[in-house]
This record gives sequence, C-alpha cells and structure tokens, in this order.
Amino acid sequence: MSIALHTAARMQLRFHNSLHRRTESFRPHKGRTVRMYTCGPTVYDFAHVGNLRTYLFEDVLKRVLLRQGYRVRHVMNITDVGHLTDDADQGEDKLERAAARQQKSAAQLAAFYTRAFLKDLHRLHVLPADDLPRATAYIPQQIALVRRLERLGYTYVTSDGVYFDTTKFAPYGTAFGGQALTEKEAGARVEVRGEKRSPHDFALWKLTPPGVRRQQEWDSPWGRGFPGWHLECSAMGRALLGQPFDIHCGGIDHIPVHHTNEIAQSEAAYGKPLALWWLHGAFLTVEGKRMGKSEGNLITIDQLESRGVDPLAYRYLVLGAHYRSALNFTQEAVTGAQSALDRLRDIARALPRIPYAGSDANGIVRLQRMMQSVDGRKAQEHLDAAFADDLDTPQALAVLWDAVQNDQIAPLERAALVASADQVFGLGLAELLGKPVRIPRAVRALADAREAARIAKDWARADVLRAQIDALGFRVEDTKRGPVIKKQTNS
Ligand code: AMP
Ligand code: ZN
Repeated sequence: MSIALHTAARMQLRFHNSLHRRTESFRPHKGRTVRMYTCGPTVYDFAHVGNLRTYLFEDVLKRVLLRQGYRVRHVMNITDVGHLTDDADQGEDKLERAAARQQKSAAQLAAFYTRAFLKDLHRLHVLPADDLPRATAYIPQQIALVRRLERLGYTYVTSDGVYFDTTKFAPYGTAFGGQALTEKEAGARVEVRGEKRSPHDFALWKLTPPGVRRQQEWDSPWGRGFPGWHLECSAMGRALLGQPFDIHCGGIDHIPVHHTNEIAQSEAAYGKPLALWWLHGAFLTVEGKRMGKSEGNLITIDQLESRGVDPLAYRYLVLGAHYRSALNFTQEAVTGAQSALDRLRDIARALPRIPYAGSDANGIVRLQRMMQSVDGRKAQEHLDAAFADDLDTPQALAVLWDAVQNDQIAPLERAALVASADQVFGLGLAELLGKPVRIPRAVRALADAREAARIAKDWARADVLRAQIDALGFRVEDTKRGPVIKKQTNS
C-alpha cells in the first residue's frame, strides 16, 4: 500500500548542480536515502538573516526530498576551531579572537552561539539536522586525512603548518567550471603569502607559533596546532555519510575557496568525489551588497522581532525569491511579507479542518486524492511541478495564492492544498486550518463601542478603545464592509 502511494506522489526532481553548472534530474546514489551535508556556522557570533537565508534554502531542499518519499540523512557541521579571519590562511582564529575579547573560553563561546543558532533555526521552522558534529570532536579523523595526503605526496611543510600542494592535483580548481581559478586569479588573492609555494595552496594543519599558547590546540605528527578550516567538512562528511555522499550545500561564496578545497583534498586522498551534487544559495543583499559582518550591514532574527516582524514572515520573504537569485533585503519587503503571511493565516483559519495534515509522503498522496475539481487537480500538479523544478518556491507560492482565491475549487480541496504546500513552505499554515479565531465577548463589546465612537466622530475615545482591544491581543481593521476584528499574530 505505502509503495503504491509513494509512486503516485513521486515526481522527477531537477536541481541545478553547481559542479556541471546545469539543471539535472536527481536520483540518490544508493536506495531511497539522500545523504546531505550542509556547511554550518562558525559559532563566534549570532547568525544574521543572510546566513539564515542559506539555511532556509537547504531546509526547502530537504522538505522537497521528504515530500517525494525519500529519507534524508542530514549532517550540518558546527565550526568551533580553525576558521581564520583571512581566507588566505593568515589572520586569527575567529573563535580564539572572540573568546579573548569577551574573556570567555572558546568552548563556552561555541556552546552559547550554537544554542542561539539552533534557537533561530527553530523559530524559522527549519527542520533539525540528524547530526551537528563539532570540528573539535573530529580532530583524529582530520589528522588522519592529512597523514593520508602526506603519504600520497600532496603536502609540504612550512614553518607555520602543513599545506596542500595544489600543483600536484591536476584537476585543482576545475570542479565548478574553473570558477576558483578565474576568481582567484582576477582578485588580489593571487599573490603568494607566507611560505606557500603557489597562491592556491591551502593550510591543512596550522602550527601554534613558538611561545604562543592557544586555547584550542592538539598534538599532531607535525607539532602542536589546529586543523585548517576546509578539513573538517571533508573528514566529517566522509565519517558520517560515506564518500561519495549525495548532496553538499552552502552559500555561493563557498564555491571558489572552501568547496574547491574540500573537493581537492577529498578526491586526492580517496580517488573519488566527496559529493555528487553541489547546490549553492545566492546572497541576501542590502542595497546591492552582500549582507555580512565585515560589511557592517547585518541584522539578526532578534532585531527583526523587536521591529515587530515575525521570524516566519522572514521565512515567507525568502520563499518569495528563487534560491539562486540574489534577494535584496529592505524593511518594506519584510513588512510586505508580514502582511501577506497574515492574510494567508486568515485564509487558512477560514478553511475547514482536514483529517490529515500531510506530514509525510503518504499524507501528501492522501491530500492529492482529495482533489476532485479540475482546477484543484491542476493546482496540485502545478505545485508539485514548481517544487520539482529546482525548488521554484516563488512559483509555488503564486500557485497557492491563485488556488486559495479560486471559487471553482471546493473549500476542502483548498484546505488540502494549503496543507500540501505548507509541508515545504513550513509556515505553520496547516495547523491553522479550521481554527477560526474566537473573539471574546469583551473584545466584541469594545469594538462595538469604538464603532459607535467613530460614528460620533469622537476620535479620542475611539483611539482609547482601540488600545484596549490591542491590549487583549486583538486588532480592529476598518474595511469597506465595516470593522473586522482579528487576532494579533504571535499571540
Ligand atoms: P559562515 O558562518 O560565514 O561560514 O556562513 C554560514 C553560511 O551562511 C555559509 O553557507 C555562507 O555561504 C552563508 N552566507 C553568508 N553570508 C550570506 C548572505 N549574505 N546571504 C546568504 N548566505 C550567506
Ligand atoms: Zn564546509
């Protein structure tokens, strides 16, 4: 039974694979389980909504896979050592520097910001990863990888560390259509820094400088020190998902350096790819510039909330843009997303409750079977097609908006469509179906009194009454059809 149901729901998924720079039909490497690795945060500060855009795109990917009946094994690393302030292997360790400034231990800092990060993900309805390995918990695996590369002749040692010799690995930098080489050659990073033999070479192991004591350092065959930043993803991805695993994700900034270097060291060491699919999310920008710490233009989920924006309104905003297009962040855009989400919530509340919310692939098929009308069936098909077409969430949102306003589709079908779409959208709409807001008698009385005051043009009294209604968690909207009482979101 369940196999038949799965088959009915299945659609050929197509994703843009950065490796080949084209959209291709997706199939997992082995069986029905998709092994997916997403580069996680460096936990020395709060995540900004730019970072979170990338995690939201990865969440949509995961939900689309689940919706198609795949099992997903998802690993996201937590970088708690080795990420330097300068991509060219110079500068300070971000965690050590922040810890010294805040007079805390690196471990305390990492634990604090990991918790804050997980809380942000939770508020954005991002499904939790199965594993959140910390780089410091996989030091032996990382040292083993460097030893293997050394045995195979891919490394050299300098006074400050062990480096990967990119000239020994012929395909270096060709993985993403040569983007690594062109970008680096065009930029300032082309000059050779320190004792590196070639500009593209990168640190596998950094030695603690003589006379220095780091908070986080380990013994190794080359001396006390710490792993280079790229190493953790190669070592932990292989340890937890095998090699090759199916999908590796991150933001587009990772293509020229981080992911190029992960590929080089993993393929050189084992003679096979690290991952078969690489998907990259575009930037969240502010006035055309990437949102980032160094740009000084970042904003966090907490800050958004303090401006009255629901974290899920930010999720809605992100869904409204395709993950491979830059999304410009403005206050107007996020306010618009908030009102659109509020409207969708009202629409969902006014629709009937349905017997299953479609929380798995079988549920989705049951929802599909509820489509009786021609328009309902079409909407369902278009929704599936949009998700399957390289995660076209803006198109899927447009389909949902059309459908919920289409009288040719019965309310029960519309409710099923909301539940079905929400499995990927994750906006909490399915839970609202059939839950009309109950307006307490006291609120109604206040609203009636306010209306009477308005008719009498007693604006001062009308304002006082409005404030009293607000305080009870409701709001009055004056529409052409007269005042309408609504429940405030978040209450
Ligand atoms: P980091 O903590 O800097 O390693 O970044 C964590 C994730 O956020 C990475 O996948 C980055 O590619 C991504 N990221 C950083 N800035 C942005 C941005 N402005 N828009 C979207 N993703 C970003
Ligand atoms: Zn990584």
